[in-house]
Amino acid sequence: MNSPPTKTAPGTTTDLSTLPVTALKGVGPKLAEKLANIHVHTVLDLLFHLPLRYQDRTRITPIGSVRHGMEAVIEGVIMGSAIVFGRRRSLLVKVQDGSGITSLRFFHFSAAQKNALKDGARIRCFGEGRWGKSGVELYHPEYEIIDGGEKTLDDRLTPIYPTTEGLHQGRIRSLTEQALTLLARSRALPDLIPDTLSQELKFISLEDALAYLHRPPVDASLQQLQDGTHPAQMRLAFEELLANYLCLRRLREAADQHAAPSLVDKTGLTQQLLEALPFDLTKAQQRVSGEIARDMARTVPMLRLVQGDVGSGKTLVAVIAALHAVANDHQAAIMAPTEILAEQHFLNLAPLLEPLGIDMVYLSGKIKGRQRNEVLQAMASGQARVIVGTHALFQEGVNFSRLGLIVVDEQHRFGVHQRLALREKGNSEGRFPHQLIMTATPIPRTLTMSAYADLDNSIIDELPPGRTPVNTILSPDTRRGEIIERIHRACAEGRQAYWVCTLIEESEALQCQAAEATYAELQQQLPDMRIGLIHGRMKPKEKAEIMQAFKQGELQLLVATTVIEVGVDVPNASLMVIENPERLGLAQLHQLRGRVGRGDTASHCVLLYKSPLSDIAKERLSIMRQSNDGFFIAEKDLEIRGPGEVLGTRQTGLMEFKMADLLRDAHLQPKVKLWSEKIRSSHPDLIEPLIERWLAGSEQYGHV
Ligand code: ADP
Ligand code: MG
Repeated sequence: MNSPPTKTAPGTTTDLSTLPVTALKGVGPKLAEKLANIHVHTVLDLLFHLPLRYQDRTRITPIGSVRHGMEAVIEGVIMGSAIVFGRRRSLLVKVQDGSGITSLRFFHFSAAQKNALKDGARIRCFGEGRWGKSGVELYHPEYEIIDGGEKTLDDRLTPIYPTTEGLHQGRIRSLTEQALTLLARSRALPDLIPDTLSQELKFISLEDALAYLHRPPVDASLQQLQDGTHPAQMRLAFEELLANYLCLRRLREAADQHAAPSLVDKTGLTQQLLEALPFDLTKAQQRVSGEIARDMARTVPMLRLVQGDVGSGKTLVAVIAALHAVANDHQAAIMAPTEILAEQHFLNLAPLLEPLGIDMVYLSGKIKGRQRNEVLQAMASGQARVIVGTHALFQEGVNFSRLGLIVVDEQHRFGVHQRLALREKGNSEGRFPHQLIMTATPIPRTLTMSAYADLDNSIIDELPPGRTPVNTILSPDTRRGEIIERIHRACAEGRQAYWVCTLIEESEALQCQAAEATYAELQQQLPDMRIGLIHGRMKPKEKAEIMQAFKQGELQLLVATTVIEVGVDVPNASLMVIENPERLGLAQLHQLRGRVGRGDTASHCVLLYKSPLSDIAKERLSIMRQSNDGFFIAEKDLEIRGPGEVLGTRQTGLMEFKMADLLRDAHLQPKVKLWSEKIRSSHPDLIEPLIERWLAGSEQYGHV
């Protein structure tokens, strides 16, 4: 074990985490302000401000081997220069070194410059090779004329830092130089990694890792550094992930100190529901329901994440959990991130709960006036037992009566602190409600480990029997007519189909317009067919009627917006066309596609894309053709779009790391988890300093 972190008294110059950058030579208020723009306030921040990339100026590259896109130092003799008049006037200087000839091209140049670049002069340049008129050229290279004497080369790779306007690379380099000197002299950055861990993973010290990354030696692998896979980078990423994991675990520990009502269904309400169902629970549903029941029986609040592929029957699991609350004279709140999703839940739950005599209400921002007052009244009096809604459920002026359970659907659009805020809202007489978090889309395992380490995890890894995998077809919109004809024939044979119109997700209004236009077009082209339209701007009653008509087979084709993403369930519908699928995330496409393949006939999903499609888009969509497995698709989605998109946190700035990259470093997660647990049991003194070092001031953790 290392010596415990040396606590330096605040104000002494060795504590780099509190030492302001203004303590460095040459940093006045102006420069400090610029540094603040890139989130550098202290000397430690500066040390953690690592290069984006590196240049290799340590050796001379023969001109003959400079390629397009390659950054290199070259040295040679000037063989003639000329002003050329192409699209733009430029100065072209030919340089030769025995291995080849290249041209330097300058679009801006002074007369003095032109004169200095004279024939026979020896010149050394640094620049990036580019395809030009005369082969590979260097545009505006840095250069110097070598007039006799040996010029030395750099003995380190040159770091290129993320920066801001008016803050030059040279300046940041000289500041990091000072910071590194301070670091080496003060040895003020204790290693917070247990020796046993360092040995097992062959870690270098934090100090060495930082020194290495700021000033890599000549023999460093540029490729590794560029890919972020260098051991020094991994060493830092690992420590940051450790800190993140430990922080989430600490949050959980704090939550475990709270009290919650023990909710065991002794009334047989659950049994009543199960007996009324036309099917049995799958083994996976039984297992997960059992896990939830055990949690809810305890007197500490449940914090559980339930994941399951589309159609795996998560709703039922949530309903059973709600019954545990209701059976104990408590309320259950079910919250979805959008109005449409919340409404769908309400419509789906009503037929399950109403026969049991359970009062339900629905609340969203759109519910106003007298209706709203009635809902609020029913909630506050405890008459309403199951409450479904949007964020509106947790606003000022909304009161519950003995809230025993909160179910949050589609958690990936909520952040850690929203989770905590919800819990606060349900706090009554020092007791907290149980919390169940359901993701409509599976989350890759490694992401679960880093983003949801404060939650217990249940997976419904089985679909109800009788589902047939959906056959997915990619088709360009140039074949739209053909697709319409296929739908026509299939519906004539008694099948039913969805036609899904997508547009930019954010714009519900535009999406509805698109659906209306497509509806009109299809009606015109298929006059003998019974076609319906459903979108988010229709009244709930209208929507329910349309869905009912589709369910009963009165409508053959349903034109819809992504409204039907969740909750719609018509087993006889076995065809789906999704327009402009390239606009949606894979997880969302998978959700949509999950609306078909629910009966026993073979189902088809046509992804009718707008051609031409970029290679990346093509690759993305072909994943949909390859797989029907939501977890596999989620992994791919993560690879292509990154964790911010997949977790839905990109806009919120949650889960941002200094060093770690959730995708690149995913393979580290199992070890991070293992070692976090070891640190919790054997080195608890390291937890606080680790969190402090990596996460201090991070908003995400402000609500502990
Ligand atoms: P999701 O996990 O996508 O939210 P749902 O809860 O909407 O899935 O369930 C999808 C459909 O499967 C619903 O129609 C539901 O009634 C049905 N279902 C759920 N559990 C079972 C089961 N054990 N056997 C057969 N059908 C089931
Ligand atoms: Mg669902």
